[in-house]
Amino acid sequence: DRTAPEWRALDAAHHLHPFTDHKALTEQGCRIITRAEGVWLWDSEGTRILDGMAGLWCVNVGYGRRELADAAARQMAELPYYTQFFRTATPPTIELARRLADLTPRGLSHAFFTNSGSEANETAIRMVRHYWALEGQPARTVIIGRDNGYHGSTVAAAAMSGMKAMHRQGGGPVPDFEHIRDPHRFRNGPDQSPEAFGRTAAGWLEEAIQAIGPGRVAAFIGEPIQGVGGLIVPPPGYWAEIQRICANHGILLIADEVTCGFGRTGHWFGSQTFDIRPDIMTLAKGLSSGYMPIAAVMVGQRVARTLIELGGEFAHGFTSSGHPTACAVALENISILDREGLVERVREDVGPYLMERLEGLSGHPLVGEVRGRGLMAGVELVRDKAGPGVFRPVGRVGTHCRDLCFKANAIIRAVGDTMVMAPPLIITRAEIDTLVDTLSRALDQTKRDLPRLMP
Ligand code: PMP
Repeated sequence: DRTAPEWRALDAAHHLHPFTDHKALTEQGCRIITRAEGVWLWDSEGTRILDGMAGLWCVNVGYGRRELADAAARQMAELPYYTQFFRTATPPTIELARRLADLTPRGLSHAFFTNSGSEANETAIRMVRHYWALEGQPARTVIIGRDNGYHGSTVAAAAMSGMKAMHRQGGGPVPDFEHIRDPHRFRNGPDQSPEAFGRTAAGWLEEAIQAIGPGRVAAFIGEPIQGVGGLIVPPPGYWAEIQRICANHGILLIADEVTCGFGRTGHWFGSQTFDIRPDIMTLAKGLSSGYMPIAAVMVGQRVARTLIELGGEFAHGFTSSGHPTACAVALENISILDREGLVERVREDVGPYLMERLEGLSGHPLVGEVRGRGLMAGVELVRDKAGPGVFRPVGRVGTHCRDLCFKANAIIRAVGDTMVMAPPLIITRAEIDTLVDTLSRALDQTKRDLPRLMP
């Protein structure tokens, strides 16, 4: 057994972390997480940490679920892996496809399995372009996403994402990916009523379609609530209008449910929360609660019929597509969510309670806006409470507040200066109190540190 400093030295010498400044990490060290139970992590020094982010929006059923370990062990012993490439399939894969067709909004009849959300979105890109080519409209290649949308880190998924840093770092510009402004009223339309802003923000899609040419647009992609980009909750009427615009131009609608899916918004899918009826839906993370890497593209009948009847071989797939062990774990995970009523629990109990507790912080001098739905919430920090005055440089204050929470043994994410929370769905009210109290103390300390942070 290595000591914590030994782990840290080895980590800094050999391991490049995702989305991390490696130099800063090496200087500040990292925490080695060795075990977990419920909503709690333990580090190698034996300190208990409250996981306010469910890993990375993943561990919806919480840690330490024996049922999931057993499901994996049973499947591993029987048939750990087999491919779907040779006109072959395995029982857990078929069963999971059927279960997902039942759970997702009507019409999403077929599942294509991948290993990650990025791969699911890559698959969706190729599917929609292939669909339009089969339909005799090969010019429809453009996919429209949104600023601060996040769809993954592979090249096309990064280009489809609306994150400028990713575009600068080898993720773009890639032809045929366009972006519209995001529906963040606090930043992009603070003077409008929520309803008026909903129409304005959806109107940006119509403008983009006209500028690109309706005959060139293949699809629009959006997360029901933008998670990674700062917890952007759509204004009322937004999704209905987006849907009307897509339908009007025959454009396919892709819902990226990678963070919203599997109960996070208080429904099985964010599409149900906002009454979205997508042609394609991408799933990952909560599909297996992170116990196994698995993701899926749910394909609606319009696209599925064309691919199946006109398409011949779709030259696309992954070695581990439909991995039986991952599928067995996902099936058991869905059973847990169902059996324990965790989705309703988010909608009716802990979701509203988290929002109520966070609303209690809205009087804090640093808090500009509190927003969220279910168990995904954001607290946006501002320089001047009178308006959405941003801190410059963006992110320094948020990062400081995040680091204070981490020191106080709670994981809360900072996206720019928005503090983001997405705890496991099994979190109790008492644990929510601990999370919000930790954030509250960190905000007080951040306020005191402000002259030093923003000289
Ligand atoms: N879409 C969304 C909305 C996500 O939040 C993420 C991951 N944070 C992805 C796609 C990419 O998923 P993965 O990291 O599994 O590739």
